[in-house]
Amino acid sequence: MRYIDEKDAGQIPGRLLSENEQFAFACHPGISCFNQCCRNLNLYLYPYDVIRLKNCLGISSGTFIDTYTHVVLREGSFFPHVLLAMAENGEKTCPFLTDEGCRVYPDRPQTCRAFPVEQAVYFEAGKPRLLHYFRPPEFCRGQAEACYWTVKSWEADQNAGFYNQMTVEWAEVLGLFSQDPWGEEGPYGQKAKMAFMAVYNVDDFRQFVLESSFLSRFKVKPDLRLKIKNDDVALLRLGLAWIKLMVFGIRTTQLSPKK
Ligand code: SF4
Ligand code: SF4
Repeated sequence: MRYIDEKDAGQIPGRLLSENEQFAFACHPGISCFNQCCRNLNLYLYPYDVIRLKNCLGISSGTFIDTYTHVVLREGSFFPHVLLAMAENGEKTCPFLTDEGCRVYPDRPQTCRAFPVEQAVYFEAGKPRLLHYFRPPEFCRGQAEACYWTVKSWEADQNAGFYNQMTVEWAEVLGLFSQDPWGEEGPYGQKAKMAFMAVYNVDDFRQFVLESSFLSRFKVKPDLRLKIKNDDVALLRLGLAWIKLMVFGIRTTQLSPKK
């Protein structure tokens, strides 16, 4: 996710799409470049991507992170990036690519869903807003098809509305990490590990919330508390609120310390 100042919106590669601006695109198995885009990618996974993928594969979030991702902390960054690990073959194909296409298609990550549109985030009155850039790679023949979309109609076609909503909620928290919040403990300390767990490893976070003193120390908004046992999205939202409180001291309506 790229954070920008709104004034720099025109400097980002690709065509910045306004609300009703159209772009041409269609992708289908008969196209000459079919599957070419699913290899050798720097594919960033967001917390909601991990929930969808681990549930699609029927594995825990911890197993998913260990098996399918690289977790990297880049210099100058204060929260790790999670990248989908490409297969160790000559073409570095996506681990979910088959001859017939994507085997996790209904649960494919946000980046794949938005493609050939890329997103950037800027803050307006403290709230994250998404910008959309049409940016297919040159080899993508889909851009020559006479099928026309706007940002909204493409989002609807790709079932991306809820993904975008979760991206905005995640962007709000990730944006707080533009400054180093870890102090002497550093980005590999216990607090940082807990914060990572809270958003990227919801199954371990659930166990932590339900089996530690968490619920006796924190007041959780009632409707959220009812859902956290079985609902991964509710748990992720609790995790986001917990990071705000634990790392940045920001109280929300979802979570506050008990007196
Ligand atoms: S390169 Fe473009 S048209 Fe070809 S398969 Fe990928 S998205 Fe579809
Ligand atoms: S998850 Fe699916 S759509 Fe995304 S790169 Fe992998 S195979 Fe392609």
